[in-house]
Amino acid sequence: MAPPVFRFAPSPNGLLHLGHAYSALLNFDRARETGGRLLLRIEDIDATRCRPEYETAIYDDLAWLGIAWETPVRRQSEHLAVYRAALEKLSALGLVYPAFESRAEIARLVTAREAAGPWPRDPDGAPLYPGDARSLSAGERDRLIASGVPYALRLDMAAACRRVAGLRWTELGVGPDGEHGTVPARPEAWGDVILARKETPTSYHLSVVVDDALQGISEVVRGQDLFHATSVHRLLQVLLDLPEPAYRHHALILDEAGRKLSKSDRSTGLRELRADGATPAGIRRLVGLG
Ligand code: GLU
Repeated sequence: MAPPVFRFAPSPNGLLHLGHAYSALLNFDRARETGGRLLLRIEDIDATRCRPEYETAIYDDLAWLGIAWETPVRRQSEHLAVYRAALEKLSALGLVYPAFESRAEIARLVTAREAAGPWPRDPDGAPLYPGDARSLSAGERDRLIASGVPYALRLDMAAACRRVAGLRWTELGVGPDGEHGTVPARPEAWGDVILARKETPTSYHLSVVVDDALQGISEVVRGQDLFHATSVHRLLQVLLDLPEPAYRHHALILDEAGRKLSKSDRSTGLRELRADGATPAGIRRLVGLG
């Protein structure tokens, strides 16, 4: 049997903190325990936030932690054509539509909807897409596109969900509410997610499923903050006919106030901890892997 394949997939939009160290070490340890392979993927599709110096810092911090990964490293920004092909496949299924509202217009629409009663929010707490671009006529769409109005490409979630039944995944770790084992996927909770934008011709959801498949990832080990996103990932995997990895979501490392760590909080940054004399073994102990 082929060895299991793991990946650590950071975005180079800031410096790594203890939470990243925990996730990377868990992947590294799982690969070692199982005789598996560890890949590193740089998720740098957001050109406005990603910077080469953060990418260099990722390599440096991971190597310092004692983590070894296979090369070449996959950098998502170098594979936009692959994501575009996946998007075209979804489009050909009639599941993608352009939505022309700006972020400000969306915020106004949500305010208007909320004035009339509660408006649903996704598992991350963001309001679902409130617009009605899905029902624009083909002629109106063509006119707007031709006039140069920027648009995002959204997944028609209701139509997508009608094509799949019994969507679930295998959870080897634990979800925020103790979910484990076979977990039912609920992609509809996310509404019509964005699959591509004008400035970023793909999205996190789309590129992550395409790459996990292309790289043959068998077990996705990542933080619980991405647990609910797995519902969207499973949906896209089925629609795009991609293999299904197992998932192992891990608890998040929290700060002293019980909040999720942020890339801008210096006290839990690996750089600062190193500068203060922390050792790789000390970092392992700090994240509970000692
Ligand atoms: N790039 C994502 C992040 O840094 C992680 C993606 C994943 O593990 O699926 O949060």
